Amino acid sequence: MMLKALLFPAMLTALSPAPPPLTPPEGNVSEAREPSADTEALPIGETSTCSGVLVQGGLIICHGRAGTRFRLGETELMAGASASVAFGLGRKADPTISIQVIPPQGIAPDILTFDIAPRQDETAILRGIDCDKIDARTEAQKAHAGRSWVKKQDGWQNFNEGRGGLDGFLRPAEGPVSSPFGYIRKYVTEGCPTKERPHFGYDIAAPTGAPIIAPAAGIVTLAEPDLYYEGGTVFLDHGHGLVSLFLHMSALDVAVGDVLEAGDPIGKVGATGRVTGAHLHWAVKWRDTSRADRDRDFYIDPALLLDLPRATAP
Ligand SMILES: [Zn+2]
Repeated sequence: MMLKALLFPAMLTALSPAPPPLTPPEGNVSEAREPSADTEALPIGETSTCSGVLVQGGLIICHGRAGTRFRLGETELMAGASASVAFGLGRKADPTISIQVIPPQGIAPDILTFDIAPRQDETAILRGIDCDKIDARTEAQKAHAGRSWVKKQDGWQNFNEGRGGLDGFLRPAEGPVSSPFGYIRKYVTEGCPTKERPHFGYDIAAPTGAPIIAPAAGIVTLAEPDLYYEGGTVFLDHGHGLVSLFLHMSALDVAVGDVLEAGDPIGKVGATGRVTGAHLHWAVKWRDTSRADRDRDFYIDPALLLDLPRATAP
């Protein structure tokens, strides 16, 4: 009950109308803002801190001694041996959020409040794309898509605890961004149903055969050369609930269970699966590891992870 009472002032802050944050959408790496008058009287939770990329689609990383619990909304994550946890921020995250810090024994809880900058995503209208590039229609295509779905579910079964704290991410391939995270793709083609889909990855234009490297350390949880939509695909679990997906690859250099360091080769860029040209689709999913179901997992903006500091000291 005490914890609920402590959280209440911060929730009021989040609900009250506030001017939009003036911070830029990218490169916004900062610490929690000063405690509000409501929380100022609380003792600070000793070693616990949270910081990150405070933008919708970004990531907040919290550090605290082992056993410290961090609560954001209904998600409560506990720092283990790595002394850190990570909260993804949805594309439509509230403009103000509060993280409740519950340290082990004897140390007073704390509340850290953050302003979250809004996204400015665009809508693109794509015309004349073959329906087959969008949905499986023939029996053979449907069977292929079905087998692919099962393989992907297998890939999502494993959770990597993660070694150490999360470091900044490296760009996994060289080349210009051909399609950023977040914009809405509207497919308009005569004879096909119109579909709207937000882009959940970050596309890097590169020729077939260009190298792909691990953006951060992790364990390979899926390595499939021929998924129906995705083509050659690798899942790399970075721990702390974060999984990178690499799609449309022409060659895979890794197998399930491989342990990679940042910068290790993963494979080659390609144009496999339902695509119109060679590129790497890099996506990062944040998974709510406090839940058994996967209902609150979502994709975050990979580009924002490139803004994280490369060495985060717990
Ligand atoms: Zn893409």
